[in-house]
Amino acid sequence: MSIKSVSFSSLKPGKHLVILGAIHGDEVCGPRAIARMIDALNKNMFELRQGSITFVPICNPKAYALNERFFDRNLNRKLYPKDETIDYEDKIGNILCKILDQADALLDLHSYQSPGGPFCFLGGSSQEEIDFCKSLGVSDFIYGWEDAFSKNDKLEDPRQSMGTTEYTRSKGGIATTLECGQHLNADNANIGYRAIINAMAYMNLIEIPRNQTKKPQKHSCFKMDQLFLKEAPGKFVKPWKHLDKVQKGDTLAIYESGQQLTAPKDGVIVLPKNHPEHVVGTEWFFFAVETPFPQAGDAGIN
Ligand SMILES: [Zn+2]
Repeated sequence: MSIKSVSFSSLKPGKHLVILGAIHGDEVCGPRAIARMIDALNKNMFELRQGSITFVPICNPKAYALNERFFDRNLNRKLYPKDETIDYEDKIGNILCKILDQADALLDLHSYQSPGGPFCFLGGSSQEEIDFCKSLGVSDFIYGWEDAFSKNDKLEDPRQSMGTTEYTRSKGGIATTLECGQHLNADNANIGYRAIINAMAYMNLIEIPRNQTKKPQKHSCFKMDQLFLKEAPGKFVKPWKHLDKVQKGDTLAIYESGQQLTAPKDGVIVLPKNHPEHVVGTEWFFFAVETPFPQAGDAGIN
């Protein structure tokens, strides 16, 4: 199965934007949003005034065909060029790296399992990247993931955690992952499509026609604080949604032993795994606190 990429280039030089879909094969909003934009460009609904754009609608075709997250392993880890390719994802990774080597900016479209709406991962140290994220048309942002959770990984090869955004930044580009909402949300492909338009406008590839996109009035930003593992059989006190607000001391989950898990401070639940059979010993949910919008160089923005 080959990897399809589609590019459009203006005759006038400018920035190169890369849009990725289905890095995880069970996340269909990216391919749908990208197909809609390729169709719109084919029909001249937008005119590239400068620069170029490359779409990879389905980055992991075998996983996509199976509606699985991956084929051999998570494509969004260990993403760097390899002389010796072992896994299927190693082979795809080499193709994607060549494309990302040429990117001034990357928008990587994903969806997730928990109930909830869209949010954008903030990272990188440049103000340009923060401004790029803010331009995409979503209102919720999460940052500080690496600071909060990578402390145990000191012995590992740092490239272990390198995904599409980290690789692009290592090559000098700006990058973000946009989670367009829960896998099955009816509006997730629309959110992805709107973000593509906004990303193209931010990179000066197009001028946004009026009424073509909407900007949220308010931006909410959350810094990752803690990871809660499911340490024993138990359940949530209610089916949590991503970014549900809780107050310090609120009971979040109860183990079968009667022990309660409570909110360590005022904050929000992040990506809760609601399934009652969620496996003991694995990540159950994350906890984050609302913060003002960070500036480049602030703690947790790295
Ligand atoms: Zn994903």
